Amino acid sequence: MGTLEWSLTRWLYFKSPHLFPRAGRPSFLGTCVNTCLSMEEFVYSLPMKIRVPVLNVLRVLGEIEIFLLSYPRQCMAAVGMVLLGGGGGAFAVANLGPDAALLPVQVLTTPVEPLSLQEQATSLDLHKLQLFRSEVTRSSDTPESLLRRLSIVDPEAVSFMRKNGLVKDGLARAGRNISAQANERQQLLSLTTRWLRNENDSVFQRLTIQRSAQGFTAKQETAPLVANIQYSGAVVDTSLFAAADEARIPDSVTSQLSDIFSAQIDFHRSLRKGSRFSVVYEALEADGEPLRTGKVLSAEMVNGGKSYQAMWFEEPGQKGDYYSLDGKSLKNTFLAAPVRFSRLSSGFGMRLHPLFQTQRAHLGVDYAAPTGTPAMSVADGVVEFAGAQSGYGNVVIVKHNASQSTFYAHLSHINVSKGKSIKQGEVVGQVGSTGWATGPHLHFEFRVNGQHVDPLTLARQNNGPASVATRPGFNKMAALARTQLASAGQMRESNVQ
Ligand SMILES: [Zn+2]
Repeated sequence: MGTLEWSLTRWLYFKSPHLFPRAGRPSFLGTCVNTCLSMEEFVYSLPMKIRVPVLNVLRVLGEIEIFLLSYPRQCMAAVGMVLLGGGGGAFAVANLGPDAALLPVQVLTTPVEPLSLQEQATSLDLHKLQLFRSEVTRSSDTPESLLRRLSIVDPEAVSFMRKNGLVKDGLARAGRNISAQANERQQLLSLTTRWLRNENDSVFQRLTIQRSAQGFTAKQETAPLVANIQYSGAVVDTSLFAAADEARIPDSVTSQLSDIFSAQIDFHRSLRKGSRFSVVYEALEADGEPLRTGKVLSAEMVNGGKSYQAMWFEEPGQKGDYYSLDGKSLKNTFLAAPVRFSRLSSGFGMRLHPLFQTQRAHLGVDYAAPTGTPAMSVADGVVEFAGAQSGYGNVVIVKHNASQSTFYAHLSHINVSKGKSIKQGEVVGQVGSTGWATGPHLHFEFRVNGQHVDPLTLARQNNGPASVATRPGFNKMAALARTQLASAGQMRESNVQ
């Protein structure tokens, strides 16, 4: 009986500190008692693929625990029944051992005072059980509704949360992860949430509510985000974004990837089925909770049999940039496309004209994109024309040098005026369907001495600045990037399988 009771107690305590010891580890809250956070850290340290099932299992175990805690006496009565049945089992097991009659007999008499079931139930009630739960805030949340979802019933906590300004701010937005700790009476012991004040912050905000003998207190702190390196990759089947979704790569990483290679690859036109990519990027975490994506550290794209590699390189006191692993800048005099590749532009009815038809009818490249999508100048230059041209609607022409110019047509809005100097990537206007256009798209032409040229052929010629491979630390970084890309490649293979 003692053993069974012990097992039950152990089981009820499965989330106790013994399971996830924090010994010797500094606590980010300054105290070292919060098992909730150690549990959280443990779960967040798991790879994404098994994190979700683990969270689900913990959720179910949490439900069972709540039930047991809500009805401890009934449960103890049930345990009593099981123990009565278990006695028979014990006899059955004993019968399999050596015949007791053949063993030497020694009689020991020890007075035993068994506790009544009632007393055991009461002592179980008094155990300091702590419940850990997490939830996500909703826009319709009140302190009550949030605590209810956390299975906490605590009017005192509700009234504190309603009045406290810090708490109101901290819980104001939908979609924030909340972790809470409650006692066996379903009262709130502590509650924590973390968020970013601005999208690109390098620090996060942490709100903590604590119950003490004197009542509740709330504090808000600021702490730096910690970059955790992620490896991933995918093979393009239908679209780059679909492949990235499949591999659970955030959109901001996919966008960075297409930007990094924007001078080498026109993702709108030349990305092929079967293209594959590997990417190493930073996930910026707050106490182990990923709050946003950082920058891509290295990337490889294999498209049409050609491999492109890139790594981020930053020298102390200087602005960082992307380079090929042999030290060449990935910047080019010309971008491969005048429309930034995005989920929207990539999925937008890609009804392209056949490229460079022999008829005069079509001498450019059409980029289908929603009205309002920015059209960028593919290189530095001066605006030569900005205005309407019958069939082409609103047009901007940019002169890049004595012989080269680019032509942007059907714009819904023109952002520049004649004579203006512009930089590569600067927005000249917005995609539209003015003039003779069946739908919103950017008609784009590249002209060299008045002749139409496929902009891709120009983009592929790298005219960027000289190699930085001789800079201190570059080759070391490049070696690291190679290793990381190899790991990311392995991740990609496992994603594909
Ligand atoms: Zn066209």
